[in-house]
Amino acid sequence: MIRDRINLLGLPRQELELLVAERFGAKPFRARQLMKWIYRRGAADFSVMSDLKQEFRAQLQETAAIEVPDIVTEQRSADGTRKWMLRMDETQGIETVYIPEPGRGTLCISSQVGCAMDCSFCSTAQQGFNRNLSVAEIVGQVWLAHRELKDTRPDGRAITNIVFMGMGEPLANYRNVVPAMRIFLDDLGYDLSRRRVTLSTSGLVPQIYKLAQECNVALAVSLHAPDDELRNQLVPINRRHPIDELLAACWHYIDKQNGRSITFEYVMLDGVNDRPEQARALARLLRGHPAKLNLIPFNVFPGTRYRSSPAAAILEFRDILNDHGVIATTRRTRGDDIDAACGQLAGRVTDRTQTRLGAKLAASRATAEAR
Ligand code: SAH
Repeated sequence: MIRDRINLLGLPRQELELLVAERFGAKPFRARQLMKWIYRRGAADFSVMSDLKQEFRAQLQETAAIEVPDIVTEQRSADGTRKWMLRMDETQGIETVYIPEPGRGTLCISSQVGCAMDCSFCSTAQQGFNRNLSVAEIVGQVWLAHRELKDTRPDGRAITNIVFMGMGEPLANYRNVVPAMRIFLDDLGYDLSRRRVTLSTSGLVPQIYKLAQECNVALAVSLHAPDDELRNQLVPINRRHPIDELLAACWHYIDKQNGRSITFEYVMLDGVNDRPEQARALARLLRGHPAKLNLIPFNVFPGTRYRSSPAAAILEFRDILNDHGVIATTRRTRGDDIDAACGQLAGRVTDRTQTRLGAKLAASRATAEAR
């Protein structure tokens, strides 16, 4: 940590323009030049910024910095997937994953150190929650991956898509996630279209309404069950925001989006949520709405009691959905040989939650019922 220097990474364009004007008496276009250097060219050092005046560079050096997290480890999967563990401070680490595919490259980023949502099938949940990432720590993941990857492509655009599907619940860190997304969308930032930035949520309903208004990116929702009884067990936040409330928020979100659809994620758990009648119940919920279903084979991790549904059961589940008018596809597992697949990101987390969300919600419901 560089004391007293302001970190320029992740500053929204207007704030940077203001800073440049007020602190350095420079014109707004200087802020735009700075952004190009920081994001497109991946510069971390003011001395290379050759189109800025020597004097301005010296001023920046004194008072500002471009500070990114350190890479602790990097792993490469046989399938080309890469995973970085990044240091957040002395004891904490988070993970970022790059998934190359023909014609696109997806960066899967984290929004929190750990996660407090307590989903029973997710390895991040087992680590507990420590803290929210700052805007700079969220944007820093993209900055680092862009630096590592840009020379692998002639146009420098190795990252074509960004998904908030790493560690953490992005809508629980709304305050920092939204400004980070603005940098992803800014043409002087990473210049991605709204459909190429996807926020995945376990279902924080009030924040879905807010997001619809403020930063309408692509939305993915972790559904995982067709009824409240089962979803209460798998995704505890369902006890606060049950399925009908969640779906109402989703259809509202899409209203604002014209012609796009919500991706519902559904992890396939053997003998838990993979029966044919559950596929039919799911189809009844989603049919006629702008929804796509993404079936995710469960990825195992140490200590889990779940197993993945067999391939044949996943195919049958998918076919039932498709026959009942709901588009369903199966997500191909990537990077599982380096524990980089969905739900396998564990990072390094010191749990600071006092009680698990599941237990907390059960207790508050019991109190409410006793009244
Ligand atoms: N907090 C966000 C992002 C989580 S990770 C959310 O809940 O959507 C992205 C997806 O991976 C989620 O749908 C999550 O439920 C799923 N997932 C979690 N653990 C998994 C596992 N072990 N195997 C497969 N998918 C998993």
